[in-house]
Amino acid sequence: MTSQATFDRRDEEETSLRDVMCGTLRAADIGRSVSICGWVSRRREHGEHLAFVDLRDHSGIIQCVIDGAHDVRSEYVLRVTGTVRGRPAGTINERLGTGEIEIGDCEIEILSIAEPPPFSLDDRAEIDEQVRLRHRYLDLRRPRMQRNLRTRASINRALRSAMDRQGFVEVETPILWAPTPEGAREFAVPSRLHHGSFYVLPQSPQLAKQLLMVGGVDRYFQIARCMRDEDLRADRQFEFTQLDLEASFVSQDDVLAFVSEAVLDAAEAALGERPGAIPRITWREAMDRFGSDKPDLRVDAELVDMSAIFEGSEVKAFSAPVVKVLRLEGAADSSRSVLDGWTERAKAAGAKGLAWFRVVRTDAGDLGLDSPLDRFLSDAERSSMLELSSAVAGDLLLAVADEWRTAAEVLGMLRSTILSPPVSEGPARYVWVIDFPMFDGSDAQGNPMAAHHPFTMPQPDDLELLESDPYAVRSQAYDLVLNGWELGSGSVRIHRPDIQARVFRALGISDADADARFGFLLNAFRYGAPPHAGFAFGIDRLAAIFTGEDNIREVIAFPKTQSGTDLMTGAPAELTSTAIAELGLRPVVKES
Ligand code: ASP
Repeated sequence: MTSQATFDRRDEEETSLRDVMCGTLRAADIGRSVSICGWVSRRREHGEHLAFVDLRDHSGIIQCVIDGAHDVRSEYVLRVTGTVRGRPAGTINERLGTGEIEIGDCEIEILSIAEPPPFSLDDRAEIDEQVRLRHRYLDLRRPRMQRNLRTRASINRALRSAMDRQGFVEVETPILWAPTPEGAREFAVPSRLHHGSFYVLPQSPQLAKQLLMVGGVDRYFQIARCMRDEDLRADRQFEFTQLDLEASFVSQDDVLAFVSEAVLDAAEAALGERPGAIPRITWREAMDRFGSDKPDLRVDAELVDMSAIFEGSEVKAFSAPVVKVLRLEGAADSSRSVLDGWTERAKAAGAKGLAWFRVVRTDAGDLGLDSPLDRFLSDAERSSMLELSSAVAGDLLLAVADEWRTAAEVLGMLRSTILSPPVSEGPARYVWVIDFPMFDGSDAQGNPMAAHHPFTMPQPDDLELLESDPYAVRSQAYDLVLNGWELGSGSVRIHRPDIQARVFRALGISDADADARFGFLLNAFRYGAPPHAGFAFGIDRLAAIFTGEDNIREVIAFPKTQSGTDLMTGAPAELTSTAIAELGLRPVVKES
């Protein structure tokens, strides 16, 4: 996907120093006398007294013809005053928007001199990311980064306006705050005034926005910075930005409609085209068909359940509650080492093994299977496998036999690893995943853990299972997924103390513990909590996909590296011993 963000607001950019932006001048401006400002992108000597200087600002580049005696070099900052004129025949540059014209009769004012930059600012140059991050202010001058930041700004603008139009009020919530129970590790800030006590940076404004509902705000939103101390990867930074929202007296359907409107507006603003309505799928169906709660719908292949075929089968490898199969079109020629690699990945993801079958044409002209397991299959099993998978000669079938969840997840992981294109590659396929389970996995004490967070409302029909069969309880939680990336999550919240108490009990959270951790929220609920629901989605992820980037670092002005450092500022850095003492901390002697 590539954003359409172009620069078209030339008149709004006039200042006391310039009349117009460099990249916006055209042949229609010939004869006009203008002042422009920018950085020297390139200088070429032309004869003894003549030099061509390409002047760059964020709108583009224009060629200025200057007296060769001027000492202007790469990245000098200039103000050029001159006349727009047509380029001589034969020197027109089709690749540049300004390629038909140039600025002549130039007067030059050097506003800043510059040392040679440590890397080429030409967009086509491949530059080591460490070097780019160390000098991010130079990297940002490159057209690609300018485009990314501006696309991001247009997304924010569209989101704000969609939320405003839908009656949402922008409210800022604290950054220095108390723990938020959403499962991620949190950053702590020591208090200077209260030694031994810490603020916690919010991993989301979750509790604040619920309190705003008790406060009668009715519809809240915020383009909110969230902090999570978790290992970084392509779609994760310590600090990231969410469109965060919460509304009162609403149902899941209302929230899905609010968010869809905002996301589709943002897509239209960034890409120039409004996507169609976003389909919905239940969590169970997503797991069954795609083996993932964030299914990539760009990939057609689906998992096929073959458990019925192998019920009571002689094939040992398939004696499991569930057998699932993924058909890879035309992949029968995958080498043994590739198949071994996939098998290793399947095992690492929790499977006992991975069975593979090459679909071949037999001498008799029928379809057959080529696999170490083939000789154990009955004729009926073989033909059912071929039929259910709709396989043709040249395909490869991958099978996992296990518990339902493991079989689905392992094949889902292989489906996305093998078949998913880079996330930003079109077409954009959005999907709402609804009806998530209430609990997922267990903590060190063996208590179920909240799949979303402890304030998520169970489905009314499943309430009675809360004590007897907690893992069967579905919640009113929902995710928005785009091309296999989870854009965001939300839920209908518990506003009734009796249900909240039962959920805490199911989670193994004692009354005293609940009171100590989020007593302020529970207290607030004693004074009249409206039914409410909300959502939050990652703007960094959306902006990355819309700008055709596969890593959110490319749409963040000053990101951290994979290991969490800021190469430009040197953060995190040591504090002076005075600062440490003031905070009431004692330095630990570092192990070398
Ligand atoms: N606080 C949740 C999150 O940040 C979203 C929500 O439930 O509104 O993922």
